[in-house]
Amino acid sequence: MQPTHDIAPHFPFDNSYARLPERFFARLAPTPVAAPELIRLNEALAGELGLDADALRSAAGIAVLAGNRVPDAAEPLAMAYAGFQFGNWSPQLGDGRAILLGEVIGRDGVRRDIQLKGAGPTPFSRRGDGRAALGPVMREYIVSEAMVRLGVPTTRALAAVTTGESVAREQMLPGAVLTRVARSHIRVGTFQFFAGREDLEGLRALADHVIARHDPAAADAERPYLALLRGVLERQATLVAQWQEIGFIHGVMNTDNSSIAGETIDYGPCAFMDTYHPETLYSSIDHAGRYAYCNQPPIAHWNLAGLAQVLLPLIDPEESKSIELARAELDRFEECFNAAYEAGMRRKLGLADEHPDDPALISDLLACMAAFEADFTLTFRGLCDAQDADAPANQSLRALFTEPAGFDAWATRWRARLAAEGGASPERRERMRATNPLYIPRNHQVEAAIVAATRENDFSPFHTLVDVLDRPFEEQAGREEYTHPPLPEEIVHQTFCGT
Ligand code: AMP
Ligand code: MG
Repeated sequence: MQPTHDIAPHFPFDNSYARLPERFFARLAPTPVAAPELIRLNEALAGELGLDADALRSAAGIAVLAGNRVPDAAEPLAMAYAGFQFGNWSPQLGDGRAILLGEVIGRDGVRRDIQLKGAGPTPFSRRGDGRAALGPVMREYIVSEAMVRLGVPTTRALAAVTTGESVAREQMLPGAVLTRVARSHIRVGTFQFFAGREDLEGLRALADHVIARHDPAAADAERPYLALLRGVLERQATLVAQWQEIGFIHGVMNTDNSSIAGETIDYGPCAFMDTYHPETLYSSIDHAGRYAYCNQPPIAHWNLAGLAQVLLPLIDPEESKSIELARAELDRFEECFNAAYEAGMRRKLGLADEHPDDPALISDLLACMAAFEADFTLTFRGLCDAQDADAPANQSLRALFTEPAGFDAWATRWRARLAAEGGASPERRERMRATNPLYIPRNHQVEAAIVAATRENDFSPFHTLVDVLDRPFEEQAGREEYTHPPLPEEIVHQTFCGT
């Protein structure tokens, strides 16, 4: 949709990261592109941020979203960070293709970064071109906004534009820019950047910035930097629990993709599982399966251990004391993760009361789904209508399993639990439906939307998919195909990083 009039968009920037020492970033403007066109503007999000959607749709607005025009009061910069990538230390990463325009405080009072991803080379680009291809921009838009509706903390997509330029990947592809919104873009790897340079002053300045921004209560704690570690740990543990509950596989949980604010960030080779299997993995570059579904909780713990390690010099002047305190904090991960995960899974199963057998009930269902190749999303959705073994919906649920009798044995135990909590009820069905989505961004649908846009310049499948995923828990008439798992020939076996 092209604009008919021109209104310079106003961003009420209130920048804090740009006030940090100069070695935290490189100041530079985005590199302009040839012929930007708006693919989609997230009007609801623009409203939440207090931005004028009409102005963003205008030629001047699209110029901002493409990096062709720097808005007033923006202080564009690329952030420095480091990270452990697949377990290997990279002392110098940083925003190689993303530029932070500034921060705005939304209607909810929360400060958020506005960043252009794919905005051109920066001093951190290494051999990259600083650009993004259309496909990964579309995937990030679709999946991150779906995550919002699924109730999972995530960075968001304010807009996507095409650039009118091509980017060279394995083949030439259309280029695009995503406007990403985040509570912050500070990563575990940002802390590791300063620690790697033995820059204790930088580390402390970063920690103080994070406390002010994400953990204000930690400032009053007896040990503020330990409280900061606790805050990050709790956010990461509950985040990953939510991923497990919806069958989301991030795909590249490097420490530079691990958000201090506890948001899902960096939608590269991410994917939702269709058929459940704990070892599911899609990323084409993850040969060892490091970031498979079942490894996400231990990897989050490993990333937090990396954070704890670099915070040691701030926690206590005596190293042995710091280690003892940090270790005790890290040891809380499992408990914190399990509490969140079990509560979430109980909700999915429609159970209100806690019971000592819950962990077994949950893991036995998953084992049964894995053994009999059941679709993750449809199984949980199916349970909502199968509280009663005689319900017709129980037959379609059973049919998701290659051996329905295997499911029956588990379902008998589950129904005994329901009976102890008052038996089948429409209220429980509604509660379960509000937590077990019917629509998820299935890989084959995401892929189909990308192919239509990339090959035919047809964005209608993309728009429809984004619209469907706006209401993942509600049955939408005429949109049944979006609930279906892929046909054998539609299965996407691998996903690729956007680089
Ligand atoms: P990612 O795999 O997207 O988390 O990126 C890892 C690192 O590579 C980050 O420092 C990115 O900024 C950088 N990077 C990824 N793609 C590009 C690109 N096309 N141009 C420059 N840098 C990139
Ligand atoms: Mg990254």
